Amino acid sequence: MKRKIIACDLDDVLWDLMNSWVKSYNNQNGTDYRKEQFTDWDISKTLKDEHEKFFSVLSQDTFWDEHIKNIDNKTIKRNIDCIKNLQKYYDFYVTTNTDYRLKHKIDLFFNLYGDVIDRDHFIIIKDKWLLNVDIAIDDKAETLWEFDKRHVRCVKIKQPWNYWFNCEGYNTFYELAQKLLYEVEN
Ligand SMILES: [Mg+2]
Repeated sequence: MKRKIIACDLDDVLWDLMNSWVKSYNNQNGTDYRKEQFTDWDISKTLKDEHEKFFSVLSQDTFWDEHIKNIDNKTIKRNIDCIKNLQKYYDFYVTTNTDYRLKHKIDLFFNLYGDVIDRDHFIIIKDKWLLNVDIAIDDKAETLWEFDKRHVRCVKIKQPWNYWFNCEGYNTFYELAQKLLYEVEN
């Protein structure tokens, strides 16, 4: 049987980004936002005219250094084990709409996940749905929506900003991986 191809997003799927992002923004601006307030990927709906300032946090190397300190290594280790198991049955790609200039972020990813994901399986892409894959894992509803139109199986990590998109969903990457493994092993 042909191996199925998985396109798996990075931010807020393989690592928790939004919590650190909001925390860092709050620290720099004396604000008091919480992740739960971000109920739409269009961040301007929550932040109004602070939108650009919020995104600029991601281009600060210091943010990624700080983010490393907040990373939950137990979860990352567990995710790595899941990816190793999934790779027995699936072709597993990490697909991210990351600005390729965010070297600190990309280095951080390979520091954490480099043992299981090599450069050939790490794809920086904006319109992910143009990839010919069987399963799309993402937290961004708009992305899943596009995959869904192309009849790709959509699986989401449940986040406040994707509650409106109805598809198969899990609280963690671990839960999701267990489901995909169960399907091929039973
Ligand atoms: Mg994401």
